[in-house]
Amino acid sequence: MHCWFFTSQVFKSLPGKALVGNSRNFHCIKPLLQSTRHRPLVETITTLRQNLIKSLGRDSVSDTEAIRKQHSRDEGVERHNHLADLVVWPKSTEECSIIASLCSEKKVPMIPFGTGTGLESGVCAAYGGVSVDMSKMDQIVNFNPEDFDVTVQPGVTRKGLNHFLKDHGLWFPVDPGADASLCGMTATSASGTNAVRYGTMRENVLNVEVVLADGRVLHTAGENRRSKKSSAGFNLTNLFVGSEGSLGFITKATLKIYGIPEMMLSAVCAFTTIKAAVDTCVQILQSNIPIARIELMDDVAMDMCNNHNKLDYKVAPTLFLEFHGSEDSVKSQAKFAGEIADYNGGSEFRWAYESEERNRLWKARHDIYWTTLQSNPGCRAIITDVCVPITRLPDLITQTKADIQESGIIGPCLGHVGDGNFHTFLVFNPNKPEEFKKAETLAARMTKRALDLNGTCTGEHGIGIGKMNYLEKEMGPVGIEMMKSIKKTLDPHWLMNPGKIFLSEY
Ligand SMILES: Cc1cc2nc3c(=O)[nH]c(=O)nc-3n(C[C@H](O)[C@H](O)[C@H](O)COP(=O)(O)OP(=O)(O)OC[C@H]3O[C@@H](n4cnc5c(N)ncnc54)[C@H](O)[C@@H]3O)c2cc1C
Repeated sequence: MHCWFFTSQVFKSLPGKALVGNSRNFHCIKPLLQSTRHRPLVETITTLRQNLIKSLGRDSVSDTEAIRKQHSRDEGVERHNHLADLVVWPKSTEECSIIASLCSEKKVPMIPFGTGTGLESGVCAAYGGVSVDMSKMDQIVNFNPEDFDVTVQPGVTRKGLNHFLKDHGLWFPVDPGADASLCGMTATSASGTNAVRYGTMRENVLNVEVVLADGRVLHTAGENRRSKKSSAGFNLTNLFVGSEGSLGFITKATLKIYGIPEMMLSAVCAFTTIKAAVDTCVQILQSNIPIARIELMDDVAMDMCNNHNKLDYKVAPTLFLEFHGSEDSVKSQAKFAGEIADYNGGSEFRWAYESEERNRLWKARHDIYWTTLQSNPGCRAIITDVCVPITRLPDLITQTKADIQESGIIGPCLGHVGDGNFHTFLVFNPNKPEEFKKAETLAARMTKRALDLNGTCTGEHGIGIGKMNYLEKEMGPVGIEMMKSIKKTLDPHWLMNPGKIFLSEY
């Protein structure tokens, strides 16, 4: 569901240039201006289009503007106006290889597209090229319930997989809220509310099939391998987890799956201060309670959540928790966690035993981004995504909240606090550039703060275009040099999603 709030403008983008200033609604990013890379020539695209139609069929190739627009942006803040020149829908790994070979031959950029729920402009066509929509490859190709693994094509989404697994008493727990494609989640190293117990995509991907820029097919753990452990050579799988489409198309992912717990119990508990809530979280983890979810929402977020969902939770820093296990285990985990919350001044827990009630609770939590936008009609929001060692979280949140309050910007705060991962939605009116500037400055200060606290500029959304400026500070020059040399080895002409993670060097 894409909101094109700048459709009144007709943009003819210049080769390799981001639009500056002349659109009230654009939120430009400087690094694109520094690159000398150019869009492909019109003649090149015309020939490529004919070749693609010959190989894939007319129905699998489009150059209509509405479809190109739809594929050139995600759910995050618009960073520039560059559209892909073509959109294609491969139906198999072989067709992905053909696309890669044809694009490589003409030196045309390729941009993998999952479901477009990313938040850092990962799918935008920074230098034009071909957007490759993976949604038609939507089969579960290998399912081994007794080994707890499944292999999916890129069009299978998280909810689709869980719908299939449910009948077998199994589930895939990595949950970014949005119904993202599992290969898109692999590409961004997604996580979400269950990561504190079940890990992120990094811990849950066993093998990946990738079509490289030149059309070759790689199996990162070896073809058909699906062992839970391996010490065989370099960890190529984790090179591709988080590669954001910049190293190849992920055409299959083999994932760990889990038994649905006998019992799930959710709870909500309010605190007088953010520190008391985060201290509770730290102490729960230090006590080794195997908590499945522990999420924080601040007073601003709770107020919006109440108004929007007709709920009546206390407007205060609040923890959302969930316990999984056998009935006895869940009861004892919950009792222990309740005592810890009590010790930190938490008001009485409100429990949700039934799945309907639990779903309502988590829906309210997951919908908070949309709630924020709907509570501020006509506005957009910069979503921040930093992660720090958990003991640094109270400092980070307290300082960030004070900064937001001083700025006058609306900014609900929430986080997957069990992992030290923290977000704000910095609301701005797209018709007021000064508001966008303020929100951007706040986001920059928050990111710097996280890096100073030994954290990262992105816990789960990836670098895309939005975080490019921070990567070098986080990784240091040697780290960046190493990443770029891997990129150059696998994609010497920088054709795979150029202009993401770092500037195109070709
Ligand atoms: C309301 C909301 C809440 C969210 N909450 C969370 C959260 O809690 N945790 C979290 O981790 N994320 C969250 N996200 C972000 C988003 O859902 C993730 O980034 C998701 O993993 C992207 O998957 P996608 O299929 O939509 O990928 P897309 O947005 O289509 O693409 C994202 C990136 O991956 C690349 N890519 C996609 N598919 C492939 C492929 N098959 N091969 C190679 N590269 C590919 C793209 O080129 C792009 O760089 C949220 C998003 C929204 C809108």
